[in-house]
Amino acid sequence: MRHLLAKYAPALLVLVGVLLGILFTLQTLSAADARMREQRLTEVRLMERTFDWTAVQALRGEPGDAIRPEYVRIKQQLEALRGVSPQYRFVYLMALRGEGDVRFLADSEPPGSPDFSPSGMAYGEATSQLVGLFSGGQALTEGPVEDRWGVWVSALVPHVDPQSGQVLAVLGLDVDARQWQRALWQAALLPLGATLAFVLVSGLMLRQRARTRKELARLKSSEDQLYEQAHHDSLTGLPNQRLLADRMHQVLSHAHRMESRAAILFLDLDRFKNVNDSLGHAMGDALLCEVARRLRALVREDDTVARLGGDEFVILLPEYLHDDDARHVAEKIIAELAKPITVGGQSVSVGVSIGIAQYPDDALDSAGWLACADRAMYAAKDSGRNTYQFADPLQNARARERLSIETGLRQGLAHGEFVLYYQPVFSLAHGGLTGVEALVRWHHPEWGRVEPARFIPVAEDSGLIVPLGDWILAEACSAAQRWNRQGALAVPVMVNVSALQLRRPGFDGRVAEVLQETGLPANLLELELTETTIMQETLVGSAMLGRLSEEGVRLAIDDFGTGYSSLAYLRQLDATRLKVDRSFVADMVEDAEARVIVISMMGLARALGLKVTAEGVETGAQLELLRTLGCDDVQGFYCARPMPEADFLARLPDWINGGFSPASAPDKTA
Ligand code: C2E
Ligand code: CA
Ligand code: CA
Repeated sequence: MRHLLAKYAPALLVLVGVLLGILFTLQTLSAADARMREQRLTEVRLMERTFDWTAVQALRGEPGDAIRPEYVRIKQQLEALRGVSPQYRFVYLMALRGEGDVRFLADSEPPGSPDFSPSGMAYGEATSQLVGLFSGGQALTEGPVEDRWGVWVSALVPHVDPQSGQVLAVLGLDVDARQWQRALWQAALLPLGATLAFVLVSGLMLRQRARTRKELARLKSSEDQLYEQAHHDSLTGLPNQRLLADRMHQVLSHAHRMESRAAILFLDLDRFKNVNDSLGHAMGDALLCEVARRLRALVREDDTVARLGGDEFVILLPEYLHDDDARHVAEKIIAELAKPITVGGQSVSVGVSIGIAQYPDDALDSAGWLACADRAMYAAKDSGRNTYQFADPLQNARARERLSIETGLRQGLAHGEFVLYYQPVFSLAHGGLTGVEALVRWHHPEWGRVEPARFIPVAEDSGLIVPLGDWILAEACSAAQRWNRQGALAVPVMVNVSALQLRRPGFDGRVAEVLQETGLPANLLELELTETTIMQETLVGSAMLGRLSEEGVRLAIDDFGTGYSSLAYLRQLDATRLKVDRSFVADMVEDAEARVIVISMMGLARALGLKVTAEGVETGAQLELLRTLGCDDVQGFYCARPMPEADFLARLPDWINGGFSPASAPDKTA
């Protein structure tokens, strides 16, 4: 309703204005008309006052009047009166003869004129008002009336005889009304003009208003489009610098509130200028669009890919936990942009240099953040292009090391740079051998021996743990079967398995295959899964582990105590061994709290039917304490270090005959 009112109110106002204008015009017209009629009446009244009425009494209003001398006198007067103005047409006298019978007494026309009205001639247009004049009515005007001579208005004034008080005659004047009408039009001109002007102006205003509304609607509808244009790069459709600044601001305040981390990657294409110069701008544009498309496809929905202009892009990672996240994205981008891009039928390849800056590590505000990433990008360019750099030099060093380890691992796998070392596990009850753990070693041709702690995490991150773990499993099983066949040893070989290996479908099948190929009985293989892996991969109750233990493969829970699982829950795994993490063993003698933990771990494990192995036993005191606590097995430098197969086999007879003896355990290099 309000909307309708607002829409039509101006038109209504104009309508009212027009109506008022018309009313005003009509009013002006009627006022002018009345004024002119009054003027004519005044003229006739003046005539009536100056007229010689004595002669009139002699007339009868009959044809016979014409011969009376009074008639001639009267006619002369009437003629003289008519001559006063060229607008006067007739001046005449009328009398009432009988009921409603009005007759001419005399007129201003000479006899013989076609308009002459002889005395006694009936007045054709006698109206009731005219008749009324004879019985005391006021003077009146009649017309305008149109006849063959023109348009006329009649002004009629009665003359009352002073003696008798009767109306003696009515004096009439016919005036040309054309002049009159002209005057009326002139009078109407101003209000009519004003109304027309009003209509014109308001019409124009309404039109303007309608136009403005339309324009406003158009503007409104294109507001989104404008926003789009203002916040997006017109070439690629990616967010532009302005929108990026906005998002960075949001991400920063969110990260600040949640005490979380975020990262930006600053990208600059390496050979873009070449493409632009040699193939032209159109190809350059097509290339940028393709790069934009690939970048967008690489990152998650929540990540922002923006173009700063030229060949510079920025990627904003709002959900960011680990340095590796940014590293992975950077590596994916480098790999993706290394693939050739076809533009205009030509295959071109550009590289990219990437700078990575993190919040809160590198900067606290968005300007500093971007600048940091920009500097890191230049550092990446300087260090040979097609690579990435962290803003932080320490991280750069770490990332470089990871990268070279990763490359080294690939080569190491191909060149067979890995060997297995073996570390025995002994029974505390009788000192005999109850198992042997296979531990991988890497002999790098330049770096020498590389610790598992340095390369296993990289292998896990890069996925290389899968082929490496596969080799380890096969190698450990074939060694164990060799010893088994020689009759040297019939205890299980313990192989560490990482989460990524377990996540791959068909891991159990691969284990069965290795057992088949090597001929090792399943009960001589024990897989060590860390507590964290078990929890992470929700392995409890998994069908895959079920199949493995059905086959007879044993399971051990490794590094127990480092995670946050309940032993009762882990029990459902069907594991046979629990390995107490060596950090507890290390602290246990001095630290009462660690000792209490170990005691309760062993109590629980026994209650659940698990054999307990303490790892990292380095001293006799630890060993004795473990014995007192009722620990089943021990593994550690105190008994024997991990050693190459040859050393292991050399010492095997001693261990089988006499059990382990610390004194007889020369420190072989681990
Ligand atoms: P882990 O499974 O807990 O292996 C036991 C680690 O304790 C081995 O370190 C071993 O050398 C060390 N150790 C044994 N006795 C003592 C001792 O008395 N004192 C001390 N301080 N350490 C002792 P290593 O060989 O350096 O391996 C480190 C970790 O790397 C392993 O921890 C395991 O998580 C991983 N790893 C090693 N070999 C493999 C493998 O073949 N596959 C997988 N997936 N991971 C492996
Ligand atoms: Ca282990
Ligand atoms: Ca362990």
